Amino acid sequence: MAKEWGYASHNGPDHWHELYPIAKGDNQSPIELHTKDIRHDPSLLPWSASYDPGSCKTILNNGKTCRVVFDDTYDRSMLRGGPLTGPYRLRQFHLHWGASDDHGSEHTVDGVKYAAELHLVHWNPKYNTYGEALKQPDGIAVVGIFLKIGREKGEFQLFLDALDKVKTKGKEAPFTKFDPSCLFPACRDYWTYHGSFTTPPCEECIVWILLKEPMTVSSDQMAKLRSLFSSAENEPPVPLVGNWRPPQPIKGRVVKASFK
Ligand SMILES: [Zn+2]
Repeated sequence: MAKEWGYASHNGPDHWHELYPIAKGDNQSPIELHTKDIRHDPSLLPWSASYDPGSCKTILNNGKTCRVVFDDTYDRSMLRGGPLTGPYRLRQFHLHWGASDDHGSEHTVDGVKYAAELHLVHWNPKYNTYGEALKQPDGIAVVGIFLKIGREKGEFQLFLDALDKVKTKGKEAPFTKFDPSCLFPACRDYWTYHGSFTTPPCEECIVWILLKEPMTVSSDQMAKLRSLFSSAENEPPVPLVGNWRPPQPIKGRVVKASFK
């Protein structure tokens, strides 16, 4: 594999294990969700997020995704409940998407691929640092939200409008006063399982909270996401699309539902 991982044939998901062996581990993400096999677990609690818009700091194009970064130096923007045993701090959110509207999500639901998938990454401050949390099976909690094509989502436009400032790889710009809970669907029902980051090093440290109800965005909004470049300003332009990892083996893991 080339030195840097990516999503192309020479450095894509099939090659990641060459530099990151855990990518072939027993708890990898994403996975296919087969709803007929998923049991309701009545012990699963509702989850809640209390985010401080003042903790939102910057937006960044790293050539692989677009990421919004939050101040996580103290308990400002927190996720609680659901399958979690304590509060988790919001660190960043980012998305995965396809080259067209008919695919792009990482998890699939009964064979359905959504246009994109939003990941809100939180870490457990009982482990003191984000780096330590990455080494723990319950160190990280990711809320995953599917994006489905339909009505435009006004709140998502606040984020999309900022993309013009980070068109190319390596660009970073201030992005402030944004509360990502404005993107949450009305229904809080979720599936949960233990898995990994879907990008190298693919650490197996994630409690996944995947929301059943997708968020609806317009086809024009998806097109705006695809207007980013994975290339730097001084390089020939390469569109940033297809930054999703395909489903990985479930290997006996159990997915649970918060709802009947
Ligand atoms: Zn992700």
